[in-house]
Amino acid sequence: MEPIIARAERVFLSNFEPKAWFERAIFYSWYCSVRDCAFCYMSSLPAREFARRSPASILAELLLCRLLGWRIGFISGGIGAFKHEEFFDLLKKMHSVAGEKLWLNVGFLDKNTLKMYQPYVKGVVASIECINPELHARVCPSKPTQPYEQMLSSAIELNLKTAITIIIGLGETKRDYPKLKRFLQKYRVSKIHFYCLNPQKGTAYENQKPPSPEEQAWWIAKTRIDFPSIDIQGGIWLDKVGRVGLLLKAGANSISKFPAIRYFGSPEARAIEQQAKSVGREFIGTLTKPPKVDVKRLLAGLEFESELKARIAAKLEKYLRKIKAKGF
Ligand code: SF4
Repeated sequence: MEPIIARAERVFLSNFEPKAWFERAIFYSWYCSVRDCAFCYMSSLPAREFARRSPASILAELLLCRLLGWRIGFISGGIGAFKHEEFFDLLKKMHSVAGEKLWLNVGFLDKNTLKMYQPYVKGVVASIECINPELHARVCPSKPTQPYEQMLSSAIELNLKTAITIIIGLGETKRDYPKLKRFLQKYRVSKIHFYCLNPQKGTAYENQKPPSPEEQAWWIAKTRIDFPSIDIQGGIWLDKVGRVGLLLKAGANSISKFPAIRYFGSPEARAIEQQAKSVGREFIGTLTKPPKVDVKRLLAGLEFESELKARIAAKLEKYLRKIKAKGF
C-alpha cells in the first residue's frame, strides 16, 4: 500500500498546490422517481412527491458555503423532483448567489437542455456509482449508464466539463479498475467523486461492511497516478473522519459528505482540519470558526425581489444560529 500512496502523493504535489478544502453538495429534494438503487436511502423511503426544499433555503445554504469558504461540489436532487421551468429558474438564481458556474448532478440531461443551462453550468456529473456493468445492473436497475454516457458525450461536444461519482464498497474489486480508467479516458472526465459505502438501514447494503480507508485510498491513488491533473474528491461520513489524511495523501484534492452544518465546530470537524495540516495541506475555508457577517448587507447585492430576499435572510440567520450554537 505504502509505495502506491507515496507515488500518488508525489504526482499530486507535482500538479497541485498543497491545499485541501471541503466541498458541499447542495441537495434540493428528498424525492426521487427512481427509488430502487440498492444502496440509496431514498429507496427505503415511501414515495413523497413534494419532498423538496424551498428556493430560499437552497439559496441561503449557498450563501453559507461562500461565507465559510466551502466549495460547491454539485447541485443535486432526486430525479424528477422539479418541472423543467421551475428548475431552470432556480438554476439561474443559484448561479447568481454562488457567483460561479455550477456542476449539475441531476440525472440525464439531453443536449438541448445542456445548451440552455450552459451559461450557468461548468459541467455535468454522471452518478455512475459503479463501473462493473453486471454489478451496475443489479445495484441500479432503473438507472442505466447508457443515458449518462450520452449526456457526457453531449457535454464534451458543448465544451462542458464532465464528472462522475463512484461508490467504493458496492462489490467491485481492484480488477475493475481498468474499466474505470477506460471510462475516464473515453469521456474526458475532469472530476471524480470517490465515495465509500455508507450502509443505510432498510437497504440491501444495510449489513455490509464499509470499505476500509486503505481500499478507498487505493482507488484514489490509482486514479491520481493515471490522471495527474484530475480533480478528485474523497467522500467521507462522520465515522470516517479518521481516513482524511490518508485520502489526501493518496491524491484527493478535497473532502466531502461530512455533515458539516450539523457537526460544525465538533471534534470531528476539527480532526478534518488537523489531518489536512498533518499531511502538509493548507485547509482552505473553515469547519470550525463561525463567520462574522452582516446578513442585510450581504443580501443587498442580490437582484431578487424583496420578499425572496427576506426569506433567504431568515433562512441564513437560522443556519448561522445553528452553527454558532454548537456546544461541542
Ligand atoms: S437515482 Fe439517485 S436518488 Fe434515486 S434511488 Fe438512485 S441513487 Fe438514490
